[in-house]
Amino acid sequence: MTQITIALTKGRILKETLPLLASAGIIPAEDVFSSRKLVFPTNRDNVRVIILRGSDVATYVQFGAADLGVAGKDMLLEHQGDGYYEPLDLGIARCKLMTAAPVGAPQQSGRLRVATKYINVARQFYAQQGRQADLIKLYGAMELAPILDLAQEIVDIVDTGNTLKANGLEPREEIAEISSRLIVNKAAMKTKFTEVQAIIDALKEALESN
Ligand code: AMP
Repeated sequence: MTQITIALTKGRILKETLPLLASAGIIPAEDVFSSRKLVFPTNRDNVRVIILRGSDVATYVQFGAADLGVAGKDMLLEHQGDGYYEPLDLGIARCKLMTAAPVGAPQQSGRLRVATKYINVARQFYAQQGRQADLIKLYGAMELAPILDLAQEIVDIVDTGNTLKANGLEPREEIAEISSRLIVNKAAMKTKFTEVQAIIDALKEALESN
C-alpha cells in the first residue's frame, strides 16, 4: 500500500484544516491538540499526518519527506522554494500581509529600517517600491520593534488589526492577500498519482460543498 504523509501547520490553521480534512474523509486517530506527538495515524491505513510549524511545512514537502502539505501563503511566499505544486487555495486562515508603522508617523523619505520575519517578501516589496530598506529579522512580536525604535516599519500578518492598534501601529500598504494552500511534492504527484490526486479531488469537493 502506498503511504501518504500530509504535513499540517499547527495553531490556528490546524483548527480550520481538520474540519476540511474530515470532509475529505481523513480523520487523525487521536486528538492532535491534546497530544505532544508530531506524527499521527489517521482513519485511513495509508495516510498519516505530521504537525509542524508553518515555516517548515514547505521544506518537508519540497524534499518529499511529506507528500502533501497545508501552509499559509505567507509561508510559501517567504520560503520561495520549488519542488512543489500549489493546486488548491483552501480559503482558510485568511488575512493580509502588510506593512505597518506608528499611527500618524510620516513616511520615511530616506533609508528605512524594517523589522519582520518575512525577510524575503519584504526585500522584494521594498525593492519593487524603489525604497531603500534595511531589514531586521525577528521571530515574533514584530509590533514591539517600532515602539523601541528598533525599526520604523514592520511587515506582518494583519487579520482584525487589533494587535497593531493595541501597540499604537496602523496598517499602511498591503503586500499580499493570504490564505492557506494545499501543496504537493512534484515527484509524489507523479509516483503516487492515484492516491495524491484522490486527496486533492476530495478536498476540492469538500471546498465546493462548503
Ligand atoms: P489581528 O490582531 O487580528 O490583526 O491578528 C494579528 C496577529 O495574529 C498577527 O500578528 C499574526 O501573528 C496572527 N495571525 C492572524 N491571522 C493569522 C493567520 N491567518 N495566519 C497566521 N497568523 C495569523
